[in-house]
Amino acid sequence: MLKSINDPRISRRSILKGTGAALGTLAMSGIAYPTIAFAADVKDLVLETVTGPVMGADIQKAMAHEHLFVDFHGPNDDKYMDVDWSAALGASVTSAEELKGQGVNLLIEWTNIGVGRNILLLRHVSRATGLNIVCPTGIYKSLVPPAMADLSVPDLADHFIRELTLGIDGTKIRAGFIKIAASTEAIAETEIPFHRAAAIAAKETGCTIALHCPKAAVAKNVAASLESEGFKLDRFVWGHSQPSKNEDHLEMVKRGATVQFDAISADSDPFFNGPTDDASMLDRIANITDKHPDQVIVSADASVFVNPPVWQYDRDNTYVYRYFEAKLTEKLGKDLAENVLRRNVIRAFRVGDKVA
Ligand SMILES: [Zn+2]
Repeated sequence: MLKSINDPRISRRSILKGTGAALGTLAMSGIAYPTIAFAADVKDLVLETVTGPVMGADIQKAMAHEHLFVDFHGPNDDKYMDVDWSAALGASVTSAEELKGQGVNLLIEWTNIGVGRNILLLRHVSRATGLNIVCPTGIYKSLVPPAMADLSVPDLADHFIRELTLGIDGTKIRAGFIKIAASTEAIAETEIPFHRAAAIAAKETGCTIALHCPKAAVAKNVAASLESEGFKLDRFVWGHSQPSKNEDHLEMVKRGATVQFDAISADSDPFFNGPTDDASMLDRIANITDKHPDQVIVSADASVFVNPPVWQYDRDNTYVYRYFEAKLTEKLGKDLAENVLRRNVIRAFRVGDKVA
């Protein structure tokens, strides 16, 4: 057992014992992580949600990249996460109910440490609505909370491993993947330790690394740095890839990555200036599914409740299943469309098998 989260004697070995305990609990609950490197049938894959493990077979419709609460102040600002939580909770429950009404029962939350991750809000929303929610560990760019500012790369990796195997913020709610982010034009020096720690933690726990990165050249540099730590890109999701070129998407897919287009529903992309219209999104998706049917996913990347409110941006998380699904099905056929919307999301965010 872990003695204390601050115990300097804590070793990688004791962390792994923690991992074993977590996996044992899963086995007792009747759901075991798969031990095979890849299961062709997603029904046997496992997702770690904020209310425990869920089988792929139980997922009907998925959203691959969304946010309920998000905070852009950064953890060193006094205004960070200082909001009317009743309002945030109410908006999140309402939105989740709307998605559930469309048949969506899996939401991959991309709000990680530094941009307002609130594990208790996510669990409350999940319990209130029945929406399965997967929550990440990992730090956004270099928005490290003050209490974690001095951690070394091994310490950071151990922190991520604890969140993936034991629990987050004093709870037993486990993270289901690691989300990292890179600055738009180049990887910032201060982001590198978080990327390295992510690779170490993903290797040890068998989870996916998902990256916020709009530019291909930067995404390729992050991928190379993760690979240099022994991480394999078949457990890598490149988020915000829509501003990049088709040849970049195909290059990353051939290296094993899953490519994500996540501005579905947007009229424009003020963050990265990528294309957002449905026709070009559909062409980009088809360009990948043509030879790589298992490696592309989509989402709206909407945020339901943003702090500060003036930074709320205009996206609609109900658009994917209200409009886009029909267009995708017309473009690709029913089976391939289901790959993009459901099966590939389960594959991309599964837990438990080898990543190195
Ligand atoms: Zn996002």
